[in-house]
Amino acid sequence: MPQVRKNLERLTNTVVQGTKPSMILALNQEFKGIDDIVMLTIGEPDFNTPEHVKAAAVADIQADDSHYGLSKGTALLLKNAASFLKDRYGLDYDPKTELLTTIGVTEGIFDTMKTLLNPGDEVIIPQPTFPVYGAAATVCGAKVVPVPTVDDDFLLTPARLTAVLAEHPKAKAIVLASPGNPTGVAYSETQIAALAAVLKQHDIFVVSDEIYSELTYDRPHASFAKALPEQTILFNGVSKSHAMTGYRLGIIAAPAAIISQLAVIHELITTTQPNVVMAAGAEAFGPGENDAESMRAEYKKRRAFLISAFDQMGLHYVYPDGAFYFFVKIPDYLEQDGFKLARQIAKEAKVGLTPGVAFGQAGYMRISYATSLAQLKVAAQRLSAFLKMQKAK
Ligand code: PLP
Repeated sequence: MPQVRKNLERLTNTVVQGTKPSMILALNQEFKGIDDIVMLTIGEPDFNTPEHVKAAAVADIQADDSHYGLSKGTALLLKNAASFLKDRYGLDYDPKTELLTTIGVTEGIFDTMKTLLNPGDEVIIPQPTFPVYGAAATVCGAKVVPVPTVDDDFLLTPARLTAVLAEHPKAKAIVLASPGNPTGVAYSETQIAALAAVLKQHDIFVVSDEIYSELTYDRPHASFAKALPEQTILFNGVSKSHAMTGYRLGIIAAPAAIISQLAVIHELITTTQPNVVMAAGAEAFGPGENDAESMRAEYKKRRAFLISAFDQMGLHYVYPDGAFYFFVKIPDYLEQDGFKLARQIAKEAKVGLTPGVAFGQAGYMRISYATSLAQLKVAAQRLSAFLKMQKAK
């Protein structure tokens, strides 16, 4: 085999092994080609970015803000992000030393894994999960320790945490996401306190992804950073709260000693955030800190509609406290292979769903309600008819 091809194979193996996001994207692309399909695969808000945020971005461009910016984020962005975390969740971070802005939480996850993990280190990741954590850890040569939560309503329990830490005493980090993707399940303050009591006894970092914190529907969001400030590396951002996925802006909040290390990796990879994005982010976190309110109200209506629709269809799911997903159990009269079932439903019912196995949990499908109520009604009718036909077979 020619040397170039050998080299290419080596390259592909290192990066792709163990990573799954591409499976989800590929299926999405396939479904988009189906005429009249209702896509409930979507992992991003269907709303537009608030007008005042767009205006801030335009003003920044008009002001010729076109030179290299500050790598960690502009002073205004960092100040407003710190106020957002304080006002919304009671978290105290020094904007100068304990915050960093990144190209979305996604870059923050990579920076963090690269900073924390050496090849061979272990990182604990409860399943099912957003696939980027495991992919990033794998790219860093680390080993993922998956922990199933399917029998515990998709929450990591203190007992299971204690057991996994006993088995993996050298694990460097644990990833927790609340509210979580793909389940929408969120930890309550009491549940967080119980996990924190266990984690405090271990020399382990908590990588806490709270990107959906603004989208909780029954109770205010509770943050791991409040219970475990010294161990937690907290992610948040504007993608979900302000419908700004395309702007690419995330924040990391953590003790200064961690931020200074993360900042080195961030600067190496990116030099800096685009200035226009930082200007928009400062507006979103500052004057727009409550922008999610109207979107939250709309998502809540959609969630209520789907709860009654799924209940009528006899579908089982764990009650989603937040985000915009249901994680629905595949009824036993249906095809159990998630990918095959997703393709069958797309073709026969014209509804696009994401198989749970893409998030590390077979036997479930993720259903997103980041789409209009009108579309959800069409999808529910189609799914109901599909289930009736399958049941009758
Ligand atoms: N974290 C979770 C749990 C997500 O579901 C997503 C996107 O779907 C992200 C992070 C990505 O966030 P960002 O757009 O800030 O990179």
